[in-house]
Amino acid sequence: MYQWILVAAISNPWAHQITPSAGSAEAIGGYAAGCLQGAVALPEHGTGYQILRPRQKRFYGHPVMEQYVLDLARQARKMGLPDILVGDMAMAKGGPFSSGHRSHQSGLDTDFWFKFAHKKLSAKERNALKPLDMVNFQKNTINSNFGPQQMTLLKLAAQDPRVERIFVNPPIKKAMCDQFSASDPAWLRKLRPWFGHSAHFHVRLHCPVGSKDCESQKPFPAGNGCGAELASWLNKPAMVSSKPVANPMPDLPARCDLLLSNKKP
Ligand SMILES: [Zn+2]
Repeated sequence: MYQWILVAAISNPWAHQITPSAGSAEAIGGYAAGCLQGAVALPEHGTGYQILRPRQKRFYGHPVMEQYVLDLARQARKMGLPDILVGDMAMAKGGPFSSGHRSHQSGLDTDFWFKFAHKKLSAKERNALKPLDMVNFQKNTINSNFGPQQMTLLKLAAQDPRVERIFVNPPIKKAMCDQFSASDPAWLRKLRPWFGHSAHFHVRLHCPVGSKDCESQKPFPAGNGCGAELASWLNKPAMVSSKPVANPMPDLPARCDLLLSNKKP
């Protein structure tokens, strides 16, 4: 689809954007080759949630994503869960990260930790907090950290019609299949096994109405994904996240250049 060009991290202009662009909110391009016009910043904390690593300023998103996070946090509170911890969303104008995430570029991706906050944490604490892994990579199973609260949060997250898919490590998908596949709820298929994602899950939303240049991802196979597909993942070696490396710079839609140059969209 796009050609990839390797660019040194230092020359990534997206990482230096500190304010959202003017113009109405639009997710432009693909999840892994795009940018975000008219981003909104999620407040650092609110009912049922707290933002992680506020220092990194990766708390921008399309307004649809902001509303999704607020709604999920309120529902989680209603279900009696502790505060949810919101990880990386997008940068102020979206665009590619220098290292780490390949996606999170168009304001429609957000990471949520499986670990909860049991009290109000200071910004300093939230900048330094360590994640909690849910997977035993030797056995390729969940560990004892993954329990009913994580299941409730994942179910709430996936039930929302705005969600296109959610990435989780394969043993986490298996635990959800074991718990819920008997009643075969429609949301279960949205949980997609992937590398990493053992201390957090990654929510991806559908292209919002009004984002005419937003590119949808290819649909995933029919069915709840609890059968042969999951088995094929579990038969591979444990899907540990790869070490962060410098990302190739994707060839972005031309409209993204306008956001960077602050020209009228
Ligand atoms: Zn992510």
